[in-house]
Amino acid sequence: MDAETQTHPVNLILLGPPGAGKGTQARMLTEAFGLVQLSTGDLLREAVAQGTPAGKVAKQVMAEGQLVSDEIVLAILKDRLDQPDTGKGVILDGFPRTEGQAEALDALMLDRGAPISAVISLEVDDEAMIGRIAGRYTCAECGEGYHDDNKPPASEGVCDKCGSTQFTRRPDDNAETVRTRLGAYHMQTAPLIDYYALRGNLKPVPAMAPIDDVAEKLTQIVKEVSDG
Ligand code: ADP
Ligand code: ADP
Repeated sequence: MDAETQTHPVNLILLGPPGAGKGTQARMLTEAFGLVQLSTGDLLREAVAQGTPAGKVAKQVMAEGQLVSDEIVLAILKDRLDQPDTGKGVILDGFPRTEGQAEALDALMLDRGAPISAVISLEVDDEAMIGRIAGRYTCAECGEGYHDDNKPPASEGVCDKCGSTQFTRRPDDNAETVRTRLGAYHMQTAPLIDYYALRGNLKPVPAMAPIDDVAEKLTQIVKEVSDG
């Protein structure tokens, strides 16, 4: 399947702790299949930057590494899903993160006649996530993700995708907050693995492998679910 021959929308969930590779793989799938990446973390950071009422509440919660309330996250997700570009299929990156969000999503997608095609669970070791997060940075211009050791740009200090020389690091990407975020993942998000396994659409993917190997597995899954 490619963007031209795709017959029905493919709606994916990427599940995994901070640093698992959700954003990296979502961008790859966006480029390969024309799916729309929908990251609640990115949407919340935009709300914080714009100083909206929701953004003002979310700012402190995110800085502490806790989860933002279901109410706020669902409101921004619904707004984004209502935009016309989502009809071809979406990759939910970092959503849902609680059972309440998963149940609300089931209802939302049923309403839209757009069921979830597959839930990809990126399986990683917690300890390795500390190093992935500590070394993470992104292009300030186009948002391409990099890592100090694992994924440096081909030419030092220059974005591979857009040529920009400006990069940013997230304020919550520090060793202390990452531990809280990993704790929140295990308490509130990991139970969703069983939630989706029971519904029969869970696809576990070993994600300690190099980025390109994980990308190959995900590409296979998208082809399977879009042909099936
Ligand atoms: P998430 O969105 O799940 O928090 P990211 O996609 O931002 O994770 O990845 C976190 C960091 O780890 C980034 O710096 C990225 O370049 C790097 N990374 C992603 N996948 C891998 C991988 N399979 N192996 C090594 N490093 C990776
Ligand atoms: P990561 O890529 O490290 O997994 P995200 O960018 O997805 O992080 O999220 C950053 C922060 O935004 C989270 O620590 C949390 O505070 C908030 N957040 C993002 N998505 C959600 C969600 N679905 N529910 C609640 N909080 C969220």
